[in-house]
Amino acid sequence: MSPPPAGSTIVSFEEARRVVEQQAELIRASRIQAGETESVDLLAAAGRVLSERVIADRDLPPFPRSTRDGFAVRSTDLSALPATLEVIGEIKAGERLDRIPASIASGQAASIMTGAPVPTGADAVVMVEYTVARKHRVEITKSVAPGENIVARGAEAREGVLLLDCGFRLNPAAIALAASVGKSRLPVYKRPRVAVLTTGDEIVDVDATPGPTQIRNSNSFSLAAQIQQAGAEPVLLPIAPDELHGLCPLIAKGLKSDLLLLTGGVSMGCYDLVEQALAEMRAEFFFTGAKIQPGRPVVFGRCVVETCGAGTPAGESSATYFFGLPGNPVSTMVTFELFVRPMLKALSGQAPRNLVFLHARLKKEIRTRTGLQRFLPAILSGEFDQAEVELVAWQGSGDIAATARANCYIVIPPDRERMAAGEWVAVMKNDC
Ligand code: AMP
Ligand code: MG
Repeated sequence: MSPPPAGSTIVSFEEARRVVEQQAELIRASRIQAGETESVDLLAAAGRVLSERVIADRDLPPFPRSTRDGFAVRSTDLSALPATLEVIGEIKAGERLDRIPASIASGQAASIMTGAPVPTGADAVVMVEYTVARKHRVEITKSVAPGENIVARGAEAREGVLLLDCGFRLNPAAIALAASVGKSRLPVYKRPRVAVLTTGDEIVDVDATPGPTQIRNSNSFSLAAQIQQAGAEPVLLPIAPDELHGLCPLIAKGLKSDLLLLTGGVSMGCYDLVEQALAEMRAEFFFTGAKIQPGRPVVFGRCVVETCGAGTPAGESSATYFFGLPGNPVSTMVTFELFVRPMLKALSGQAPRNLVFLHARLKKEIRTRTGLQRFLPAILSGEFDQAEVELVAWQGSGDIAATARANCYIVIPPDRERMAAGEWVAVMKNDC
């Protein structure tokens, strides 16, 4: 007789998040310690997570930089306007130092371009719009404060300071910063491998012709897309049947990845065997449900898998975390956003970040029942301060077509029965 499934632990949304974040923190620490890193070309580094700090190799900017096209001046020369100054040279961006006027004296100015070095003596740049050039003279009609239109040498960063820390996920600005300090390659953590195991007797491969009561596997693909977006590598396993003998070996295989995501088979049906299979494999469960909709039956735990492969001493074991995500396609996607994403961040070495909600005005009233925190597919529209949001019409958490039209989820707290049109509501965008 198989061991009984774990006792049911249904927790609030906040508690479920807290538990996941707690475990994620442990994972992150061990991931950083294990230090599985690689060096990647800067062009391929966007979205990867830095495993070493990036330091400024010189002052940024390396010289006092003009931020405008205009004239480098001494600001005190412009106390009476208009002022006429002698133009002693022209400085373009990239000009050699020996071709720049050694110093600007009182009564003098130099024509200067954006990005060019400001010569000694000058303490401000007057925008060309406020000047009239006449041969070797310039008439200036506007005064400037000391330092105006100049970024002082080292004002953005001093040589040797930390620019990007370990655990930073490289966004386009960080890529630009790395380029600006000469990093054509960057050390990053290896992408975590995430096994995806779809369960269900009714599920067939995307290329198969489904029988009249069968449906094609879509969850493996939404999950693979979400995994990739999160900077990890999906490993798709074959579809598992609703039967323990078929399910357990595939779970064991999935546990060899850095994280295992199962979909389907976690509800109360007679053939929902995922929890039972995991319990048989002596899994530890942190929760077996969360008070949310969609996604209530979500399961989170970890399971020790015996490894005796190459490079590991026989019998050595390590625990792999898993999520049993509900099979309804929208539930699968939502529970990934809410719970899997923080775990993936940790597995990829990223520093933790809070779940961020935007706020927008509700276009139409929402009525619902209390008791569950809801994340309902919605459309966010309107620009600037006109952001408004409305639910998409849907047929429940199996409705992928409606969800594909949505671009966010409206978050409804568990104690609200009605939210009025015009009310500000929390909105969850993907990748928060
Ligand atoms: P379950 O959680 O196994 O009870 O499944 C809930 C619903 O989701 C059922 O209607 C399933 O047919 C559907 N479902 C489960 N797995 C998938 C999948 N991989 N792709 C699409 N639909 C699925
Ligand atoms: Mg099922």
